[in-house]
Amino acid sequence: MPAFVLCGGTFMSCLQPEPTLCSLSGSPGDSAAGAAVHRLDAKADRKADARTGTAAVEFALEAVDPCGARAGFLRTRRGVVATPVFMPVATHAELRGIDGDEVWATGTRVLLSNTYHLMLRPGAEVFQRLGGIHAMMQWDGVVLTDSGGFQIFSLPTSRSINEKGALFRSIHDNSRQLLSPETSIAMQQAIGSDIMMVLDVCIPSTTDEAGTREAMERTHRWAMRSLAARRAGPPGAADQALFGIVQGGVFPALRKESASFITALPFEGFAVGGLAVGEGKQARNEMCALTAALLPSGKPRYLMGVGTPNDLLDSVRSGIDMFDCILPTKMAQQGYAYTFSGVLRTTRARFRLDETPLDPSCTCLVCRRYTRGYLHHLARGKHALGIRLLGIHNIAHYQTLMQRMRTAICSGTFPSLYRELAPALASTELR
Ligand SMILES: [Zn+2]
Repeated sequence: MPAFVLCGGTFMSCLQPEPTLCSLSGSPGDSAAGAAVHRLDAKADRKADARTGTAAVEFALEAVDPCGARAGFLRTRRGVVATPVFMPVATHAELRGIDGDEVWATGTRVLLSNTYHLMLRPGAEVFQRLGGIHAMMQWDGVVLTDSGGFQIFSLPTSRSINEKGALFRSIHDNSRQLLSPETSIAMQQAIGSDIMMVLDVCIPSTTDEAGTREAMERTHRWAMRSLAARRAGPPGAADQALFGIVQGGVFPALRKESASFITALPFEGFAVGGLAVGEGKQARNEMCALTAALLPSGKPRYLMGVGTPNDLLDSVRSGIDMFDCILPTKMAQQGYAYTFSGVLRTTRARFRLDETPLDPSCTCLVCRRYTRGYLHHLARGKHALGIRLLGIHNIAHYQTLMQRMRTAICSGTFPSLYRELAPALASTELR
């Protein structure tokens, strides 16, 4: 894995996949042809840092398309990441058999891992004794951890939730566990992630307005407790960024109220929560766009748990910078491969003797090395290698999509790229 170097403290430096991204070494303003270009107001940023006492991450916009799509740079303690960025999900500090070198080669620079699972196994002590998640995984890139909220609220039974937090039993040994704003932050500090998330109250989108308000208000109280827990953390923990989460379900007035409350707190970034939990695509897009527009332009915006390549295209257009989703690896398990002309079901008989690569336009190691015929054979037999190879390709496809969108935003051509990609990416027809 290529080690990154903090290049003399300059902002446009490391963790960049390849120079296909725009203006890595040039002036950020050079690349805008037609796009309105905005630079982060460094003076205002320094003032904000002085006020909050934190500078765990910094964010700078490179270009903003008139439609709202943004290209930027996120500087973390492990280097600089180009945005918009897609974060594959390494649930158990493991990416479905794909190791760090392979995932790095896809262009991935940020991984997401799940606090709920890691607190149960291997537990905080193992991370503390073995030097944290980066040392354990041998991963030089950035790690973002979620808070565990989504998993805990998805548990069908055996949990009770009150103002203090969520009490539940371990699926492994039936031991009693408490996930609260404080224990979630403590666990994320033990994991040693670069970006932590606050514990929020996750509810289905079908919840009525009164129930949504109740969950939102508790989310706000928990956000303040999460900030206090970080301040009280061990030395060095202040280097870990903390993002707040805007809730409010599908109710515009609640979204506005939540964004107003959360963005007034000293978080280094803001997430749009409570989407992809039962609402339709149109409602999701509307709430995403409405919420993104309420967030400060100088901080990163993260849409949690969404989605398909088409969702990413729509959400980048709405001004979102960061994404995670299990789909690339989950679809690989079922034999599906993403391409820019649609989704391939590799188990189809028509691929049995096919000597072409999965996607002739893809430069990932799978498309450079293997035929559709071989991948068809592996998928039919549900062989572990087939799942791993399709996972590598699918992640590479997502990263290529992000790079294409970024380049288009920087060059002022995002609307035409959107028109080019949307029909195939929106199609649910399998090839
Ligand atoms: Zn490929």
